[in-house]
Amino acid sequence: APGLYLVATPIGTARDITLRALDVLASADVLAAEDTRTLRHLMEIHGIPLGDRPLIACHDHNEAQVSPRVLQAIAAGKSVAYASEAGTPMVSDPGFPLARAVIAEGLTVTSAPGPSAAICALTVAGLPTDRFLFAGFAPSQKSARRSFLQELAPIASTLVLYESPKRINQILEDCCEILGEGRKMALCRELTKRFEEVIRGTVAEVRQVCAGRDLKGEIVLVIGRGEKAAADAATVEAALDRALASMTVK
Ligand code: SAM
Repeated sequence: APGLYLVATPIGTARDITLRALDVLASADVLAAEDTRTLRHLMEIHGIPLGDRPLIACHDHNEAQVSPRVLQAIAAGKSVAYASEAGTPMVSDPGFPLARAVIAEGLTVTSAPGPSAAICALTVAGLPTDRFLFAGFAPSQKSARRSFLQELAPIASTLVLYESPKRINQILEDCCEILGEGRKMALCRELTKRFEEVIRGTVAEVRQVCAGRDLKGEIVLVIGRGEKAAADAATVEAALDRALASMTVK
């Protein structure tokens, strides 16, 4: 059927692709990808020929220019499959301007769901998953990163962050200072790949483990929830009453 199909692709192991994603890649009239080479390679691995179908590059820098072409194709009754470089499109990846434009035209957007590093990390972190906040990449600049963490600190949800290995020691230092050394954390690295590793502990413990190592690869940080910032007013009032009563001079 005509429309935009957002196809999730593996975040490591090539076999982590759904049968439906393969069907969509095999049958779409037009293919679009953040990285055309990566998609070609993935299709090759799974034996899906591109044939004479167009394969359009669509990434952060050209999404606005490419969108009209995709819209035209869909309006003409074609199906377009879009894959970002890895994982789920639009999750810290391109795809949003394209999807928004398709929706604005009243055309169909469909998901072929699958892997995402955020969800994969949550499932192995060993931290509560009933309520979580995905915060994407922390800013690379120190002061911006610190205010980003300050904003997240009081939130009573598990936090999920993407981070580059280049800045991991810096963000762990900031986490110690801003979120507190005792807060729980899981550093999830190279998920679904050969050197997959999960380092669990308090923020201070994870920082100590990482300080002595040159961590490489892709990393997701999962952080335990913040404590309620302050006791609520009623509790404070009751405590105050008790304190005053005990201070009464007889
Ligand atoms: N769209 C992707 C998704 O759904 O997860 C995320 C794309 S974002 C540009 C890339 C970041 O995702 C990496 O820097 C890392 O933080 C995280 N990531 C992707 N693959 C990963 C993996 N196999 N293990 C750990 N983190 C991963």
